[in-house]
Amino acid sequence: MSTDATHDPALQSWVASANAAATDFPVQNLPFGRFRRAGSGEPWRIGVAIGDQVLDLLLAAGRGSWPADVAPALAPLAAGDLNRFMAMGPDVRRKVRAALSSALTAGSPQQAALASCLLPQARAEMALPCTITDYTDFYTGIHHATAVGKLFRPDNPLLPNYKWVPIGYHGRASSIVVSGTPVRRPLGQTMPPGATTPSVGPSQRLDYELELGFLVGTGNLMGEPIPIAEAEDHLFGVTLFNDWSARDIQPWEYQPLGPFLAKNFASTLSPWVVTMEALAPFRAPFARPAGDPDPLPYLDSAANRRQGLLDIRLEVWLQTATMREAGQAAVQLSSGGAAEAAYWTPAQLVAHHTISGCNLQPGDLFGSGTLSGPQATQAGSLLELTQGGKQPITLPNGESRSFLADGDTLILRGFCERAGARRIGLGECAGTVVAAPLLAR
Ligand code: CA
Repeated sequence: MSTDATHDPALQSWVASANAAATDFPVQNLPFGRFRRAGSGEPWRIGVAIGDQVLDLLLAAGRGSWPADVAPALAPLAAGDLNRFMAMGPDVRRKVRAALSSALTAGSPQQAALASCLLPQARAEMALPCTITDYTDFYTGIHHATAVGKLFRPDNPLLPNYKWVPIGYHGRASSIVVSGTPVRRPLGQTMPPGATTPSVGPSQRLDYELELGFLVGTGNLMGEPIPIAEAEDHLFGVTLFNDWSARDIQPWEYQPLGPFLAKNFASTLSPWVVTMEALAPFRAPFARPAGDPDPLPYLDSAANRRQGLLDIRLEVWLQTATMREAGQAAVQLSSGGAAEAAYWTPAQLVAHHTISGCNLQPGDLFGSGTLSGPQATQAGSLLELTQGGKQPITLPNGESRSFLADGDTLILRGFCERAGARRIGLGECAGTVVAAPLLAR
């Protein structure tokens, strides 16, 4: 994964807002999303975020002039089918990236034709970027795994398999929603402390989980594991991901088969997929702390050691209903970094997921697991920030939270910043909690 002319920090775009220092979407980023004009009912199409605009690839495919080896790759994008583009693989993707970079860079002869293909993001309605064909949630955040383990097993927080196996479970693709979709508080069965029989009702311990989402590009044939050296060629890109979790349903139901209804009512994905190519300047070495076991050979490679991790800064923000009514902006609950939080790299997740022969498909989603940093202030869930609800946090307006309340809007943000590279961002992943449905009797 190396950088090229598309990463040159000196590149400027003829789309003025893409040159603002704080934009998530300069011409060096070029993330893909699925959109249409808000309220239009038009067919979905794929667009590229550029500054505060989106380049409509349905229009751009027709009005722009594209190299002969790029034009066929624009067809699925114009048709709103990101999965078909994902299946074309990294070489095609790199060609499209180079063509888009050139077309959107200041001085491009394409400017006049493509200016008419822009739509302000504020007027775009976003869908999930692709069909999520399958969903696996991993547990790569070792500080999260340790902190949560301590709440349940103070003397044995991290189970012995953790440093050998990338722990994960098969999740539910049907309830993955795009940022902005309201999240209904789940009903469920719980066993309250001290009770002798369980009860059913709205979850009282609704939480978020700060995660990254890794989207699979090309898949593999069943029975044919993906070697770690080829693993990143099978990844398309990265999103923000909030794996909403009901902390009272979870402990009662999870034994012995793992997470189930506490995790399947909604998971929110950010709308823009930042490609692996865009992230090339923001890689970090993978190394084990002294005394920890080296990964088994199928989870180890020189490239993985050199630059297996993603150097992405992550933030969690909260705006309560009271704050919203008072016109107060969201407040930051925590911030940290993906590279410090993750014990396993994306390539290791691909290699491990397929070692059994499991077949991945274009549009499969991997959740990273909650990416909490080593410090308490870097926690990626309220479960950790409030010590299992025992130490509520106080917000600047005097409200307090052990877990999320109805009306709370939870926002994840992510960006990459490094000397010698142009800052890029992942945008936002937001959801507002709405009241549970009435319980039928
Ligand atoms: Ca999770």
